[in-house]
Amino acid sequence: MNWQEDVKWRKFCVKKKSRNSRKTPRYIKIRFSWNARCHLKTNIMSRYIPVLILFFLSVSDSHSQEGINEIIIKNTYLIDGNGSNPELKSIKIVNGIITEIEKPERLLGTENAFIIDGSDRYLIPGLIDSHVHLMIGGDENGQKELLFKMLKTGVTTVQDLVGDARDLAYYSKQQKRGLIKSPEVYFSAMFTTADFMKKDFRMGMFPEGQNGELPFLQAVDENTDFKKAIARAHGTGATAIKLYAGLSENIIKNLTNEAHEMGLKVWCHPAQFPQTAQDIVEIDIDVFCHAGLLAYTSQNAPSEYHIWFKKLYDNDHYDVFPESLEVDTILNTMLEHNTILDATLVAWKYSDKGFELATKIIKRAHELGVKITTGTDIQGFPTLEELYLLVEVVGLSPKEALISSSKNGAEAIGIEKTHGTIEVGKVANLLLLNENPLINIRNVQKIDKILINGNVVD
Ligand SMILES: [Zn+2]
Repeated sequence: MNWQEDVKWRKFCVKKKSRNSRKTPRYIKIRFSWNARCHLKTNIMSRYIPVLILFFLSVSDSHSQEGINEIIIKNTYLIDGNGSNPELKSIKIVNGIITEIEKPERLLGTENAFIIDGSDRYLIPGLIDSHVHLMIGGDENGQKELLFKMLKTGVTTVQDLVGDARDLAYYSKQQKRGLIKSPEVYFSAMFTTADFMKKDFRMGMFPEGQNGELPFLQAVDENTDFKKAIARAHGTGATAIKLYAGLSENIIKNLTNEAHEMGLKVWCHPAQFPQTAQDIVEIDIDVFCHAGLLAYTSQNAPSEYHIWFKKLYDNDHYDVFPESLEVDTILNTMLEHNTILDATLVAWKYSDKGFELATKIIKRAHELGVKITTGTDIQGFPTLEELYLLVEVVGLSPKEALISSSKNGAEAIGIEKTHGTIEVGKVANLLLLNENPLINIRNVQKIDKILINGNVVD
């Protein structure tokens, strides 16, 4: 499908989606969705779109029967997500929070505790997909199925970057109340320019928002009241802002400062032409999305996002210097500023050149010590694939990849105090595995039990 056909098809799909009918065409492969490319196809159902089956909502309440609110996982090899080797431990969970981690011989718990035998098994933190797009396509049942499927692959937390905050808040609250089986859902509010909103066909996904006035989708310029804009975004329940294209250095600076004042994380798309990634990273944003894009940002950078986007889509990889000093400088500055790289390698796998480029940049980022997260950017549930790619293609060790998908993911979302590692006081989002994932990362899919918020998932 060429560029024009793709745009035509995408417009068709956008037209078909309306909030009232919730009717969506049978597609979808989203590739490079909000970030580099969008591509929809009908023939990918088998890969990333779950089979349409309605699930009954039945988070296990085996430990939440009357008078029982404790779980003990006994005798398990604990991989805490902080980089230590497996250690034989027993852990106690009370009302969803880890309260004790002890040597197995120590007596733990009470007679009311629900006991899980962790013998010969490995306990790791639940996986975090820091970059999903839940709300593109799919009706409510479809979304719930998708979320459930993600949970069943071991993903216990997701962050959506650019969706309808009203719907996302609904899923987030449903999950918190235990009414759906889903990873925990966090989400962002997007800031861009009025010009971008006018030109970008993807904005058709938000027909009500095309004037840039929705609190989760705001068009901003130099005259914006940034305090108010960020407060409105915060009010949606978003925990991050995402800065998309065409924003000036001054605007990014103002939005970043205000977002940090309000405790929101700042995620930034590097293709902010005419600003370069180097300009932006010095502003102290928290996360850059998409490793591959760091190469499209310096010498001879175009003056405008859509000129670049068209060239990218046409596979005209101009201005690409994956091994250049410029990319190294950006990565070193990221390291200095503790900027996290949301790599999203899996999103580039449909382009040989793009994949190679992104792989080189992630490798270099990893060598330098830049923190990497396992965002995927593709609708569906390819989080495990991203994890495997980081090990098998980029060269992270399984332990490092697990840190990317748990500890680093939590930090990128801003929930590191409560999530991302197995420690006393943290939320019990856990995977009990039948085999050691540090020997083979693919053992992550050999799941014996998944716990989310201390509940065993059936
Ligand atoms: Zn995205």
